[in-house]
Amino acid sequence: MDSHPTTSVVCASKSSAGEQQQHHPQTSSSHRNANETEDDEEGESGLLDLAIVGAGLSGLMAAKTISEKQAGIRFRLFEKSTHPGGILGGLKTRWITPHHYHAMGLCRELQIPLTTVWRQSDVSDARRPLQSIGPFREPSNEEDGFFSSLRDLLVRLESDRFMAELDCLCTVKYITSNGQNMERFLEKKLLFEASRRFFRFLIKIGTGFYPAELTVSGCLRLFRSMSSVRDLYDMLALQSGHLHPVGTAASWDVLTERLVARIGEQHIHYSTNIVQVEISSEQRSDIVSLTDGTGRRWRARYVILAVSCLDLVQISIRPHGPLYYQQPDIQLGLWSMANFTVRYPAPYWRDHGYTGCIFCPAQALICYESGHNQLSGTYFSPLRGVLNDTERALIRDTILRLLRTNFTCRTMQKPLDLSLEVHPIPFYFDVFPTFERCVIFASTNVSCWYRGFINGSIQGGIRAAILALLEIRPQTITFREVTDMQCMHFKYFRRRSAYERAWYAVNLASVCRAVMGAGALLLTYGVYCALVKADICSWWSNR
Ligand SMILES: Cc1cc2nc3c(=O)[nH]c(=O)nc-3n(C[C@H](O)[C@H](O)[C@H](O)COP(=O)(O)OP(=O)(O)OC[C@H]3O[C@@H](n4cnc5c(N)ncnc54)[C@H](O)[C@@H]3O)c2cc1C
Repeated sequence: MDSHPTTSVVCASKSSAGEQQQHHPQTSSSHRNANETEDDEEGESGLLDLAIVGAGLSGLMAAKTISEKQAGIRFRLFEKSTHPGGILGGLKTRWITPHHYHAMGLCRELQIPLTTVWRQSDVSDARRPLQSIGPFREPSNEEDGFFSSLRDLLVRLESDRFMAELDCLCTVKYITSNGQNMERFLEKKLLFEASRRFFRFLIKIGTGFYPAELTVSGCLRLFRSMSSVRDLYDMLALQSGHLHPVGTAASWDVLTERLVARIGEQHIHYSTNIVQVEISSEQRSDIVSLTDGTGRRWRARYVILAVSCLDLVQISIRPHGPLYYQQPDIQLGLWSMANFTVRYPAPYWRDHGYTGCIFCPAQALICYESGHNQLSGTYFSPLRGVLNDTERALIRDTILRLLRTNFTCRTMQKPLDLSLEVHPIPFYFDVFPTFERCVIFASTNVSCWYRGFINGSIQGGIRAAILALLEIRPQTITFREVTDMQCMHFKYFRRRSAYERAWYAVNLASVCRAVMGAGALLLTYGVYCALVKADICSWWSNR
């Protein structure tokens, strides 16, 4: 992981290296007393480095990432209920898939053995078997006749194919604009009502919208913001093996327990319902005040909100204006991410006194020495990623200007060349606006990434922690961690061959329409021939 030795900072933001102090985990039995003592120390005037609101999976994961850095960051987790875990603990039967690599990695790390479930019946108890979600009924229903089985088979085939088409459409680099209504698209592409009903459900839980409320490209963009829409499909339709912890009736409590053990109970405040988060400026830096239901207050330099959007609307966030300093103006707007490489007529950076990466959150710039005379990095542009030459030139000029401001050495002021790749990113990826703000959203249920997945919540927590670390102790994180955090979503994208795309575009509904069209043509032709023949016969007989 730490293969990059360069972690010192040329231009760091509001770092406070001087404030470092080491935390030593305490035993969980003493956590109440520890809380009370530390509360007394912090009191009303005490200042936390980081407050995490919500001890669900994303909040716990953020806290774990922070505490494992052992960077002396003073943090607290505030949880409104009396126990950790959030919705993960509420219901039985949560699964992950083998593709959920963050979740798989965490289970490996915490030594939680998983078992594979292949079918509904594997996890159903005798009294109340689980209901299959999706168009795939359990086979072997004896009353089913041949036609019913054939229909089920066709529904399965059609749904599988349509899923492949959706996956293919939303994993391409640029989603082509398609203003068609998603409901119409489903009607056009799917022949059977059973498959349409299933995809309406999948779209609703995957994107939060009904298909009728979305255009095709809007829906694809939202899918793209999830880990993989195919995983959601597989999960709902129980198509591939799913994993859950061994021997605990699919309960993930063991994961919660081990995370809490890693974090240390003393950092968690239960029964603390944060009702207000207020950002104010003190001595030219932002401070966040958190108030709980009883009126008690805490102050922190940064806050991670690891709560679902339903919970979020219960919290009053002040000031009421946008937290982003520049708000995208359309719902599915785009920011762009420019990856660049600059070559300099200079030897290594260190020969000029520069020893590490540049993390410049205020300028949305991250870069590092990537080779001999070479610098690579990422610049998050507020431009919308419309890839025309003017915009590219603007981004290019901005990057060069920003780099120049970071170097005093003359050779570094004059790069030989700069290569640039601009990728549009949907703003709900939250990457760019998250810099330069002290409130960071972690829960996947907030920023609509990977809605509703254990894997997504783990990623949301890691990402929020990395963003907080970038601000609080940039020297503790590696370049790899930053890029991994940025690229979480892009890892799932893959290119499809033209052959695959052509195959996915064939669908039963079109085939059926084509057959019916051909049938109608043949019929018309037959009738026409019959009439013509009849006319000829009658004409002949009249004659
Ligand atoms: C019915 C259902 C089935 C699911 N099935 C699966 C599945 O099979 N596979 C899968 O991968 N995922 C599944 N999920 C999703 C998965 O459980 C969630 O993605 C994950 O647990 C969400 O974690 P979170 O931390 O983002 O949010 P939450 O679990 O909602 O955690 C938020 C925490 O914040 C606390 N909180 C809220 N407001 C405040 C406040 N003001 N002050 C203090 N604390 C506050 C809450 O009490 C809660 O503990 C399912 C979800 C549901 C609802």
